[in-house]
Amino acid sequence: MTRTTPQRPVDIEQVIPELSGYRGVGTRLHPRPGVPGPEQSSVGGPLLWPAGEPWPHCAEPHKRRFGERISEVRLTRKLLAAGPTEEEYELLRSFRRGRHAPWLTDTDPIPLLAVAQLYARDVPGLTLPGEADLLQIFWCPFNAHGADRNVGVHLYSRKASDVTEVLADQPEPEVVGRAEYVPEPCVLHPEEVTEHQWGDLLPYSIRALLDDWEDWEDEDAVSYQFDLSIPPGWKVGGFAPWPSTGPQDVVCECGQPMELLVTVDSREWDRGTRSWVPLEDRAVADTQVNTPTRIVVGRGGRLMIFVCSVDRAHPHRVVLQ
Ligand SMILES: [Zn+2]
Ligand SMILES: [Zn+2]
Repeated sequence: MTRTTPQRPVDIEQVIPELSGYRGVGTRLHPRPGVPGPEQSSVGGPLLWPAGEPWPHCAEPHKRRFGERISEVRLTRKLLAAGPTEEEYELLRSFRRGRHAPWLTDTDPIPLLAVAQLYARDVPGLTLPGEADLLQIFWCPFNAHGADRNVGVHLYSRKASDVTEVLADQPEPEVVGRAEYVPEPCVLHPEEVTEHQWGDLLPYSIRALLDDWEDWEDEDAVSYQFDLSIPPGWKVGGFAPWPSTGPQDVVCECGQPMELLVTVDSREWDRGTRSWVPLEDRAVADTQVNTPTRIVVGRGGRLMIFVCSVDRAHPHRVVLQ
């Protein structure tokens, strides 16, 4: 089934024509639970990873003994979805965070967790370096990386046709820092949508016009930020929202600006962004269908992966909002 973002409740360019200069396009990925294969774009699915290539690891120094067993995270979700028996409830109550991998030192390499893979053929606007047509995203599922103490995100770009044999038994860490870093297998339904620049990054003259137009008294009124600017949910490309820190310059170590490659979102929509619920999901919008991947980043926000606009060999950057 495709996913269709409804028309915006207001055509804001009719109201403020100057906004046409701040229009952009992003691709909503619309992940939904499914059984993806390695030949498909997915979140939490098996990767098209070559049998002869080592699976990537994290060897950065940080604690990796303590957390949740990934097997218990998966079993908990499965049993809760099916409705557990008394016995199964007992079992679930016995699962807890703990020192589940006491044999690991702080620098022992642990396999990265596969998060997503995106084929360029499925995802309009996905730009990849050279001849690559497949992006593979991993993370080390501990809040221990970089100055911001995030998950450790690793990106791999490759040409799918180079992979002759797919690695059958794909590794994963036994213990994760947070259950919410374990993705549920989802298939994707990519859809290009029109966006407009984050309000705080618009010129003052346009912000003043928007200010006059917004109905600040009525909380149900159409809002530029929530309804007309940037859609919620997993996304490729488009504009970056800055709700928690305000706009930041994301600059590569080479001095060039970075661009938003992928957004990982904790929710596909919430109360404030309901106008973006796809037509196909309207009837079930109030169920758990808005958390298909089960991934939660930060305090329920977005994790944005930025790449250098000039040279993709330069290190990417991760920003939480
Ligand atoms: Zn790590
Ligand atoms: Zn750079």
